[in-house]
Amino acid sequence: MKHNSAHFIQSDPPSLQDLFQSGNRKDFVAQVRNALRQILVKLQVEGHYDQVITLVKREPSYRELNNTWEEIKPSVRSQKWYELMELLIQIAYSTRPYCLRCGECCRLGSPSLHLEDAELLARGFILTRQIYTLRRGEPVRLNIEAKLGTLPSELIKLKEDQEKGYCRLYSENQKSCGIYENRPLQCRFQQCWNPEALEQPWQEQKLTRRDILGNDQDLMELLELHDERCDPERLNHLLFQLHNSRDMTVLDQVLEMLRQDVAIRSLATTKLNRDEEELDFLLGRPLAEIVRSYGFRVEMDQDGVYHLAEDR
Ligand code: SF4
Repeated sequence: MKHNSAHFIQSDPPSLQDLFQSGNRKDFVAQVRNALRQILVKLQVEGHYDQVITLVKREPSYRELNNTWEEIKPSVRSQKWYELMELLIQIAYSTRPYCLRCGECCRLGSPSLHLEDAELLARGFILTRQIYTLRRGEPVRLNIEAKLGTLPSELIKLKEDQEKGYCRLYSENQKSCGIYENRPLQCRFQQCWNPEALEQPWQEQKLTRRDILGNDQDLMELLELHDERCDPERLNHLLFQLHNSRDMTVLDQVLEMLRQDVAIRSLATTKLNRDEEELDFLLGRPLAEIVRSYGFRVEMDQDGVYHLAEDR
């Protein structure tokens, strides 16, 4: 995982463009210093400036860029500039290897839950209405660079604020986690100064719905019925077929899956008395929401009949 320099630095794009075009070395040095100051403010360690700039000046890639800035092409300057920003962020973090509880990672999204986190649910630190399930086969971005892929196995995540994408347990007023002392495993391992810390074997031991609900026979039967009739992998396959062929029999199969999804969700609330807010955990995201990732949207006409339209 790389740090995203745009997240740290509010550079004025026109001035950066001028910098790349002009190739003026003095401006380059001034902009590096300016960018570094912004990074340190963001990391709340402005006082580390002298230490960090000394480390940066020792870096061969910085020295080379400083020496060749005037000679290289604008497109190469631009590429090298962003590589340098990544380096500045890494060095800045290396002088602050501890959590400030600044909430930066909580504002970037929510964690997936692992087997060890089952305890947090059992003890009520996390409630089932605060989590949701991404089922196997759902379309997801598997990492920052990847195109859309399908999820190889089920994941349970804390819900996120729909507008801002923040973890729902993050309190904006208090600027901290509502359960910091009992936060999930991923949050405890996450070290913004050392992204590799997340690449650990425990990553494999993801929590599943079956780990949480295994003893509830009625619910497990409903989950299995839903997984069988509303399988995201099959939906993925059908939507690609539909996209390529416009075959009406394929469309009928998609609409039938959508109807089944709505019907089974309704069974969970009416027959099994589950709270509506728990449905995204029990049955995953509604299929009507998933189809949006494929460029479709679901509409219902006045007779209650579903239609699939292209989402432009
Ligand atoms: S659970 Fe707490 S520490 Fe983890 S992302 Fe959410 S708010 Fe942040």
